[in-house]
Amino acid sequence: MFDNLSDKLGGIFDGLKRRGALKESDVQAAMREVRMALLEADVALPVAKKFIADVTKEAVGQKVLKSVSPGQQVVKIVNDAMVEMLGSESQSISTASVPPVPILMVGLQGSGKTTSTGKIAKRLTEKENKKVLMASLDTRRPAAQEQLKILGEQIGVKTLPIITGQQPVEIARRAMDAAKLQGFDVVMLDTAGRLHVDADLMTEVRMVRDLVNPHETLLVADSLTGQDAVNVASEFDKQVNITGVVLTRMDGDGRGGAALSMRAVTGKPIKLVGTGEKMEALEEFHPERVASRILGMGDVVSLVEKAQETIDEAEAEKMAKKMAKGTFDLEDMRSQIRQMAKMGGMKGVLNLLPGVGKIKQAMNQSSVDDKVFKRQEAIINSMTPQERAKPQVLNASRKKRIAAGSGVTVADVNKLLKMHKQMAKTMKQMTKLQKSGRMPNMGG
Ligand code: GDP
Repeated sequence: MFDNLSDKLGGIFDGLKRRGALKESDVQAAMREVRMALLEADVALPVAKKFIADVTKEAVGQKVLKSVSPGQQVVKIVNDAMVEMLGSESQSISTASVPPVPILMVGLQGSGKTTSTGKIAKRLTEKENKKVLMASLDTRRPAAQEQLKILGEQIGVKTLPIITGQQPVEIARRAMDAAKLQGFDVVMLDTAGRLHVDADLMTEVRMVRDLVNPHETLLVADSLTGQDAVNVASEFDKQVNITGVVLTRMDGDGRGGAALSMRAVTGKPIKLVGTGEKMEALEEFHPERVASRILGMGDVVSLVEKAQETIDEAEAEKMAKKMAKGTFDLEDMRSQIRQMAKMGGMKGVLNLLPGVGKIKQAMNQSSVDDKVFKRQEAIINSMTPQERAKPQVLNASRKKRIAAGSGVTVADVNKLLKMHKQMAKTMKQMTKLQKSGRMPNMGG
């Protein structure tokens, strides 16, 4: 699916990687080519534009790492931006709710809705040991309900007995009732499709949705239709609020644009991809793996990651020196917080600092996690440079302004200031002790 794009990007990066030094104009020229490659792959224009803007901004502000080439660094930045564009983390479909859990399948006719319904039912049955009931709400195509029944027999999943003449909402109600009575865990409702998004279709889906209150509403879209698939998903999302996308025909020779822009345009994750006509041909969508497949640069990415870690280590040491001198201001604290957040936690960084047992304790008490990092950074961001350098100027009205600016309470601001004081003080004390020879070798 991504072969063409992958070849193009590979060519661009091979050129960049080999250069010893990169001028800004080199990066810009490369980005123009990347943008072209993305558009040729049928990525939505605004998505491609944002992608290039993000990468360029990141590349310009990037610290130069000694052990890798600038070109390699750019590859890493592109990789990260692509993972983000694809949705960062893989998300599987959820059945975590009170059974019977309703899953609503929606989409255009021929997108692979019924096939995907069967694939998911089979997966839930075999991999998650769920008792699944499938029901077709397609009362327009005469053979639709029959098709699902035959599919169910093939994969060993129960289908709701067909009663001719019932309306979609009645069938949905009957499916939920039967599932409750017979102890099913999951009910998969395969709705009718149309050739185009139309008002009738949406009304029907909405009525069913309002009745069953689905735990997941999955839009099935054909990846071969490129940006149309993305537009259909947006439209369905607006009308019936989808929770995720199943992208079919990823085994085909589409250009990949749908997969690449789906998340960025709709804000909804691709949860599963169909990779063939067989009932087993269903895979989870892993943004990192897809990016690495497209870029084919996994080795460069991990190389740069390592180099970045070493830089962080050197910076941590520099910081420790500053702390020891007692010149640790809020600006320093902010870069500390940023680093900690980046390195996945306080411990990672603290372990790099010499002699930090005490601070570690103090920080553990303040129960630090990602959210806390973000909040702390936001508070410091709302201060003026002067306030960061001289926290003692922070009077009540300044604190109030900062709290409002960062969306926290004054108490949060005070907490941060207290923590800063504690850090600065502990550091000073430690240096004194170390100087007097009483703490020759305090391990962190
Ligand atoms: P529906 O009208 O949306 O319910 O579409 P169907 O489920 O009946 O699928 C239409 C056709 O697409 C069938 O021939 C399926 O076998 C085929 N199909 C569905 N998903 C995939 C897929 O991921 N890859 C391939 N190659 N074919 C698929």
